Amino acid sequence: NVRVRFAPSPTGPLHIGGVRTALFNYLFAKKHNGTFILRIEDTDQTRYVANAEKYIIEALNWMHIPYDEGPGKNEKFGPYRQSERKEIYKKYAEELIAKGKAYYAFDTSEQLDFHRKDHEEKGKTFIYNWHNREKGRLVNSLVLSNEEVQERIERGDNYVVRFKMYDPKNNDSELIEADDIIRGHVSFKKEILDDKILFKSDGMPTYHLANIVDDHLMEISHVIRGEEWLPSLPLHIALYEAFGWNAPEFAHLPLILKPVGKGKLSKRDGDKLGFPVFPLEYKNNETGDVSRGYKEDGYFAETVINFLALLGWNPGTEQELFSLEELVKSFDLSRVNKSGARFDPDKTKWFNQQYMQQKSDSDLAELFLEILTKKGISSELSFVKKVVCTIKERAIFVSDFWELSSFFFEAPTEFDAKASKKTWKEDTAPLMQELITVLEAINDFSSQNIENIVKEWITNKEIGFGKVMQPFRLSLVGAMKGPHLFDIAEMIGKQQTVDRIKKAIE
Ligand code: GLU
Repeated sequence: NVRVRFAPSPTGPLHIGGVRTALFNYLFAKKHNGTFILRIEDTDQTRYVANAEKYIIEALNWMHIPYDEGPGKNEKFGPYRQSERKEIYKKYAEELIAKGKAYYAFDTSEQLDFHRKDHEEKGKTFIYNWHNREKGRLVNSLVLSNEEVQERIERGDNYVVRFKMYDPKNNDSELIEADDIIRGHVSFKKEILDDKILFKSDGMPTYHLANIVDDHLMEISHVIRGEEWLPSLPLHIALYEAFGWNAPEFAHLPLILKPVGKGKLSKRDGDKLGFPVFPLEYKNNETGDVSRGYKEDGYFAETVINFLALLGWNPGTEQELFSLEELVKSFDLSRVNKSGARFDPDKTKWFNQQYMQQKSDSDLAELFLEILTKKGISSELSFVKKVVCTIKERAIFVSDFWELSSFFFEAPTEFDAKASKKTWKEDTAPLMQELITVLEAINDFSSQNIENIVKEWITNKEIGFGKVMQPFRLSLVGAMKGPHLFDIAEMIGKQQTVDRIKKAIE
């Protein structure tokens, strides 16, 4: 029974690394007829950002990868916000203390700073671990009497609960071993790991305790998450052992690397280098800064899903275009790479162009009509549909449509200077006068018919096609661009075609 979770901390907008984690969990769940769970890990109240949860949910919905269980939905294992589960964690921290696997520590931050400095002066690094914890300089329940521990807790001293990571006195094994689905066999030496804090006297667990307890209680079968969590794996495995619980399977996804140069793609790279790294636009309420999102930049959700799927996963074939359904079918954790995946903003544009061709003309026309309406241009959907059909091949985004087709909706207000100089000669005006007469005489004003008649006229005049066609295009479009000229003429109609040529002659 596959149950996987996406467990973001609501500390800001999700960047594509987080979205990819969500997607891979979703694909894995759907592939195995499992359940995709959203859990909000908001135990660190100092980093909490209002609205981040809403943002996360909207982003998942926009990409068509909604969760099956989570806040407000099928709450069988709820609540799904850790801040609403506070009471649960304390009991588990106490269970570990009773089992001798964890202990209270009362050291103040001044005391810990002192130890750190003291070690530094001797060229060493202070670690709160098996080597130091019972030396008598640290203040914890391993060195204090039971009475004193009780007294300190009762009088309200600050404390934390620390995990006993390594316990050589009790014949503890030296290694923690695990098999990661992506990384294979991994092992960690316990003696160099520290006694991580599990619980604080403010009643809040740390990420580690809450995460393990919830994965256990929510019956998570597979933990699929980013590689940055690999260093936490030994602690997590040790926690499962300490509780006597079966650990889920683990899969750590490779890092997403910057388009060029070294290192991990950061949230800041997008704004710095001019491409989105967030699914949806995000406004920072404190600074007022707006970070661009894929949706608002005109990317289709299909595009985002497709390129994210290929960041770290490959199908083992040449296929690059995958619908969500195809991804669910083909996805397999065994084809996820260990090595970092390079993010390629140009390739994401290519994907968008591909999906543009797959969209129906009516869907695109509706999107374009919205833009036109905002510009104050009224047009029929059927006409917009025809326009879209002639230009979509050359567009990457719906927002490119206007630039590619404005001449279908309004006469050019100016003429490209360079093109005018090149095409508009002394004999052009009388030639265009004649063209008007030819056009006015045409009854069936359809593209093919206009083309036949105009070309025949040019041939009979024994002049080059360019001499007519170039100024003709300039008159209708205002520049030397656009689709097949006779298609344009048909679409704007005889009257408009003639009017535009007259205007150009003036
Ligand atoms: N709350 C962690 C995060 O923000 C979850 C890590 C995990 O999946 O265990 O990514």
